[in-house]
Amino acid sequence: MKTQVVIIGGGPSGLLLAQLLHVQGISSVVLERKTKEYVLGRIRAGVLERGLLDLMREAGVSKRMDAEGFVHNGTLIAYDNKTFRIDFAQLTGNSVMVYGQTEVTRDLYAAREAAGGNIEFEVEDVEIHDVKSDAPFVTFQVGGENRRIECDFVAGCDGFHGVSRQSIPQEKRQEFEKTYPFGWLGILSETPPLDHELIYANSPRGFALCSMRNANLSRYYIQCPLSDKPEDWSDDAFWLELKRRIPAEQAAKLVTGPSIEKSIAPLRSFVCEPMQWGRLFLCGDAAHIVPPTGAKGLNTAASDVQYLYSALRQYYHENDTAGIDGYSEKALVRVWKAERFSWWFSSLLHSFPEQSEFDQKMQLSELEFLRTNESAQKAMAENYVGLPY
Ligand SMILES: Cc1cc2nc3c(=O)[nH]c(=O)nc-3n(C[C@H](O)[C@H](O)[C@H](O)COP(=O)(O)OP(=O)(O)OC[C@H]3O[C@@H](n4cnc5c(N)ncnc54)[C@H](O)[C@@H]3O)c2cc1C
Repeated sequence: MKTQVVIIGGGPSGLLLAQLLHVQGISSVVLERKTKEYVLGRIRAGVLERGLLDLMREAGVSKRMDAEGFVHNGTLIAYDNKTFRIDFAQLTGNSVMVYGQTEVTRDLYAAREAAGGNIEFEVEDVEIHDVKSDAPFVTFQVGGENRRIECDFVAGCDGFHGVSRQSIPQEKRQEFEKTYPFGWLGILSETPPLDHELIYANSPRGFALCSMRNANLSRYYIQCPLSDKPEDWSDDAFWLELKRRIPAEQAAKLVTGPSIEKSIAPLRSFVCEPMQWGRLFLCGDAAHIVPPTGAKGLNTAASDVQYLYSALRQYYHENDTAGIDGYSEKALVRVWKAERFSWWFSSLLHSFPEQSEFDQKMQLSELEFLRTNESAQKAMAENYVGLPY
């Protein structure tokens, strides 16, 4: 079998790339390790930057997003029992949209299926071959059968635990990593959100985030020790702890209910350099991870997809290799800016076990500066709505 681009991974990066290439008449095959139902069952990101919104529109998959997504013109930050607002619209002229990653993925699958796109599910033993030549190929197993696809390029969109990054020889890649000494315990509940905008809360008991998916579906998180398990936390214990971490006025308004999903995610900052090796290109979580504070994971995956899609379009339509030759360098500049913002916002809002009283004063002083200084707010808002591609 032959195609122009083999895309490993049927998460948001892989599907978005496949759909954008399809719009440009470039063929691809997506190889996904899991079932579609499994991929759609993952509850993850929910805040989309304008760059991702534009890509969804360009890919022709924005109808439901534009009808059902919630535009957020600002966000709330709480600390020391008070709350202030960062007004994205006023500070930057831009906004973000709340529309779940699950919905983005669902819309992309629907579009790929409607277009007769080739997606192989439940593939095993994916191996990437000869990417330093002009004729790479990918082998895998599906349903116990060995398969081989010849292609021009391979896009590694297979997340942090995929095979693509590992296919770059170890001595040729450098990995930069920071792990955080806590995780996020998240719950989903069929209750109205606490506010129409997100609330990020710094508290001496630890970070909390009040988020949402729609008018009757809320997503809440609290910082927790990495040793905790979701089953250690009853719903009542979760709600009680959340109320202790947000200002009293908001705690009094919080509508609680049974959780319909509960999970713990570790926090990590990670970047692999380079993001390409011959004709293999890494996109999204395959190349980098950010802590979720500030919602940059999915959005940074989208900017990689934009750079790679533009580069492939330039290659196929203009016979110009400049985009593919410079992909890694270009993508990494923006990746590191997203890493910086996510690290800064995480450091500002969480309690760290080794934090001294001086460190706590510094954190509060920085929050106070952000609350009262328009330049600081503008810098925060520009990063939050998304730096230009
Ligand atoms: C719990 C959690 C909460 C998050 N919350 C947010 C948030 O609020 N905001 C935000 O912006 N980001 C968030 N993120 C990050 C965001 O979800 C990711 O950045 C995003 O999913 C990246 O998309 P991706 O397609 O690059 O990778 P993935 O979504 O990981 O998709 C990769 C796909 O590749 C498949 N795969 C893996 N290995 C192979 C293989 N060998 N062969 C074939 N297929 C393979 C996987 O099954 C998967 O479907 C969160 C992540 C987690 C885990």
